Amino acid sequence: MKLRISSAERHYKCPGAANAETARKESGQPERASGPDALAGVETHMAIHDVLAGRPIPDGLDSWQEQVCKWAVDEVKKYEPDVEPDKLIVEQEIYINSVYGKILWTGHPDRAAYYQNEGVLHLWDYKTGRGTQIQAARNIQLRGYAVALTQFLEISSNTIIRAHLLSAGEDGEDERHTSVEFRNADIADAFRDMFEIWERSQAKDAVRTPDLKEHCKYCLACGTEFCPESLAALDGSVLPIKQNVGELAPRDMVRYWVNWHKAIKPAGEALDRHIKALLKADENALPGLGLGTQTSVREITDLNALFSEAQKLGMSSETFVGCCKLTLKAFHDAVRITAKGEDKPLTHKEADALVNRMLALADCFRYKPKARPVVIKED
Ligand code: SF4
Repeated sequence: MKLRISSAERHYKCPGAANAETARKESGQPERASGPDALAGVETHMAIHDVLAGRPIPDGLDSWQEQVCKWAVDEVKKYEPDVEPDKLIVEQEIYINSVYGKILWTGHPDRAAYYQNEGVLHLWDYKTGRGTQIQAARNIQLRGYAVALTQFLEISSNTIIRAHLLSAGEDGEDERHTSVEFRNADIADAFRDMFEIWERSQAKDAVRTPDLKEHCKYCLACGTEFCPESLAALDGSVLPIKQNVGELAPRDMVRYWVNWHKAIKPAGEALDRHIKALLKADENALPGLGLGTQTSVREITDLNALFSEAQKLGMSSETFVGCCKLTLKAFHDAVRITAKGEDKPLTHKEADALVNRMLALADCFRYKPKARPVVIKED
């Protein structure tokens, strides 16, 4: 059974995953559709390839994708020599063969550029998803690609493979570029590791070791009958919260509260977002679920007209104004354009000073009571 290098971490941590995923595929159960995040990732990868090949950045990317694309291209240009590589692989299928020529692993590295004169091969892996923070050191996927490239490209044995991992981070503030180097002896070690991982996963009784927050996340068998352990783990993380919370021991209460905030709640929200996106794309995608609309809330569009009606009832202007809420921002904006006319609005600083003076003169403000207490996790 061939394995994918991109899933090497999962096969390393859960030897039984290969059998479980194969059983799921052979069962004929439909595979999960790619979610919007995965599709956005493919677009970003394609954009990086385009720009590095000298083509313009494609239309239709959102600002996050554009930013990640520009950053990745800059990093590649910063590290690779300013000449054409002697060999270039972009998302091409490569293999790790056993010593007898049997294909054990397959993979598609994002980019591998070999510069013979410099004696270096730059291998790149782009992690373009939000919040992705993975390090190059001890990354099994990169080790696998390094082995496959050595076999596939027939590069000289003293070539240094410099493997770069670009993690997009969160909101463009913590993009991270880490790298690791492989020399001839490292490749021999890496080959041994990849062979061992592959061999363990081929055993009929290979064990399954669930970790829902880590390697189970993208496993095809997760949450299905082909991996009862993952089903039990899912139940185990939800069931305690269904208990009568008043009966929980204090230590358990802390543990479940942390689990709820760190794992279950974000996972539930991500699931909700994913389901909405799937249903928006195809309303029949998930039998039993549909998109509804929440009842809309009425808002008042004409205060003057309403005041006229209120006056007929005998309502005073004080009473009427007393039930109208005015935000400081709306008042600030109104002051800006009223003070000197719409053509010459005050600057925000001027308007701030004026508003503060008016509030003080009219003596008509108070500080809102502090927010309600929330539970926080102490370090
Ligand atoms: S769901 Fe997790 S435990 Fe089950 S086979 Fe997949 S990786 Fe292994």
